[in-house]
Amino acid sequence: MIIDGRMVAGKRLDLVRKQVDESGVQPCLATVLIGEDPGSKMYVRMKHEACEKVHIVSVKACLPATATTMEVLAKIRELNNDPSINGILVQLPLPLQVETSRVIQAVAPEKDVDGFHPCNIGLLYAGTPRFAPCTPKGVMTLLDAYNIPIQGARTLIAGRSIDVGRPMAALLLHRDATITIAHSKTRNLKDEMRRADIVVSAVGKARFITSDMIKPGAVVIDVGINYLDGKLCGDVDFDQVKDVAGAITPVPGGVGPMTIASLMENTYLAAVERSCTNVS
Ligand code: NAD
Repeated sequence: MIIDGRMVAGKRLDLVRKQVDESGVQPCLATVLIGEDPGSKMYVRMKHEACEKVHIVSVKACLPATATTMEVLAKIRELNNDPSINGILVQLPLPLQVETSRVIQAVAPEKDVDGFHPCNIGLLYAGTPRFAPCTPKGVMTLLDAYNIPIQGARTLIAGRSIDVGRPMAALLLHRDATITIAHSKTRNLKDEMRRADIVVSAVGKARFITSDMIKPGAVVIDVGINYLDGKLCGDVDFDQVKDVAGAITPVPGGVGPMTIASLMENTYLAAVERSCTNVS
């Protein structure tokens, strides 16, 4: 079975638009783009296009590639203090001279729709997520959309990053999966992976996962975004692995669209939470 992320994301976006239209709140997302990286510019553009589709207002703050940490922090403070803005998304990665952790920690936790602030990571690990990071949240939505059993499932997550691997583990654990997190120092990755009922790969190496690493019938979720000979591909060697896996996400058209759908969900949630706070 090929898991169709575009279809599921489309349905989620339709739902967010309906919720926005019926809620009486007007969510507003601010993106912060620093520099001219073409990939970052493309992702920011896609996020603004998604906002338009779901009737979320969006504003863009652009800083030059030479911006200092202090200049970025000043911009974040301005957005934190603007009551018309519910969500702030700082497009990563930042230029080397900007201290990423200080910028992430400067975003007001209640506007941190990317879910990277330590407060939100803490809530996630406490089992009471507020804003779950968008990519892992999107993976959970995909698993649920295809009724993939999670409780008790042996799950191998390849990659331990703050934006994907670790929050993915927290979300799956919250749903009673049995988790293994593999990383660059893991021994015998193949043996670890072959035991898993669900594999989530966020390694960032093109076609790194081959069919001999997958248990027949396992669910394979490919988060990777890589380029091989100028062509977009995931971490998984899709053509081989699709014949062994029970279900698999393609790249493109798998996890990618879910990330943006989750961002829209988090922004709507931030707006609703803010409107509730204002009433009480
Ligand atoms: P990262 O570079 O921060 O993390 C990569 C992880 O892979 C590290 O934890 C590292 O320990 C692990 N790793 C490296 N070699 C390994 C090996 N041989 N075996 C097991 N683990 C190994 O990257 P990231 O930000 O987590 O992103 C990972 C991939 O996912 C990238 O391709 C990125 O572009 C993609 N991504 C996609 C989306 C999306 O929306 N689809 C979102 C975020 C990231």
